[in-house]
Amino acid sequence: MFAVPTQDRPPSVDRLARSLVGIDLPPPLLVDAARAAIAASDPDSAPDRARAIRRRLLTPVINGTGVLLHTNLGRAPLAWTQSADYSNLEMDLDTGERGDRQAGAAALLARACGAEAAMVVNNCAAAVMLVLAALAEGRDVVVSRGELVEIGGGFRVPDVMAWSGARLVEVGTTNRTRRRDFAEAVADPGNDVAAVVQVHQSNFRLVGYTEAPRTAELADLGPPLVADIGSGLLDSRCPWLDGGPPPWLDSEPAARQSLDAGAALVTFSGDKLLGGPQAGIIAGRADLVESCRRHRLARALRPGSLVLAALQHTALAYLRHDGEAIDFWRMAALSTEQLRGRLGAYDGLREAATAATPGGGTLPGVEIESVGVAVPGDHSHRLRARPRPIIARVLEGATVADLRTVHPDDDSEVAAALREVAG
Ligand SMILES: *Cc1c(COP(=O)(O)O)cnc(C)c1O
Repeated sequence: MFAVPTQDRPPSVDRLARSLVGIDLPPPLLVDAARAAIAASDPDSAPDRARAIRRRLLTPVINGTGVLLHTNLGRAPLAWTQSADYSNLEMDLDTGERGDRQAGAAALLARACGAEAAMVVNNCAAAVMLVLAALAEGRDVVVSRGELVEIGGGFRVPDVMAWSGARLVEVGTTNRTRRRDFAEAVADPGNDVAAVVQVHQSNFRLVGYTEAPRTAELADLGPPLVADIGSGLLDSRCPWLDGGPPPWLDSEPAARQSLDAGAALVTFSGDKLLGGPQAGIIAGRADLVESCRRHRLARALRPGSLVLAALQHTALAYLRHDGEAIDFWRMAALSTEQLRGRLGAYDGLREAATAATPGGGTLPGVEIESVGVAVPGDHSHRLRARPRPIIARVLEGATVADLRTVHPDDDSEVAAALREVAG
């Protein structure tokens, strides 16, 4: 905490700041609010200014949008608490010697998707960059022109490849690329191809006259095939769900099946369909994962124990086939009957049929039939202004809370808030 010199502060600022003590902020920030209010010749605005500072801090919110992986709301929700204890982050408890921070979550995720090995970095953008740097720095990487995509948040495939120091060899066209295009680039004596890369288009869909080789078709070209699947579906059979894969999952690429099809490495996010904390996972051939781990960039991209502990928690749930314990899958698998069963808590409010979406730049156009509660008018601002903000959608002049993304424990709070704004 920085010290606040009192002598160069007019007494009026001090007095005004002290009048704000009911607002949950440390004194220097209350002084900032008071000083700004006085500078604006509007001392009465000090409490609002202090509350505005408070509201810029991270705070839990209730997601009533129906977007399961809402990028602005932290993508996958994750129930995770940690004690103040030390951990064996880098100690081998058998030998007492220096251990390996990748021995927990990374090893479990490798086990869960059938990979020889895995490592964890800060996000999938970092995973792709590290893989290309480790496998192809100063050499060529072949990629389809149909996959030179921008994922959102500034992840542009050509840029990430350039940062890695790999040279891009583009093949095919925007809508059609064939195995032969890749094979010719690999065979071209003018190229020094270190890897073939397949990037999942994730957030958009190409329809009509299109063609792209399947993972299996690119696996035997010679250079290792890297499949950036992005979304982090571990296994397309979804053995962690009692009912198996939901129909909307469609043809989403999965880590296990991409590796089975011959990808040497897959990269994916921790906080998309995996439902864990923000992280990037590199999984596949042990020798290639080892090259990534040894690369000089790995140190700069490594996650800390908070993330690794949360990811380990998620990975253990997958290995138990316990989709209920992974919030994203718990919400995704709810039937409309189950959602409708909660409407009792919303007595007196109007039921609305809604379409939830996976979100997070995954599965574009996919809608999951859902159930919401609506009140007439746009009250989204007032709902966001609550001590525990509720983020709702405004549809056709009504404010709608989609029950799929609202935790059942929060039903009574959301119902009370909707009743209040509806007056
Ligand atoms: C989302 C995505 C990324 C970026 O992942 P972050 O974890 O957000 O860095 C990279 N590649 C693909 C294919 C994606 O879908």
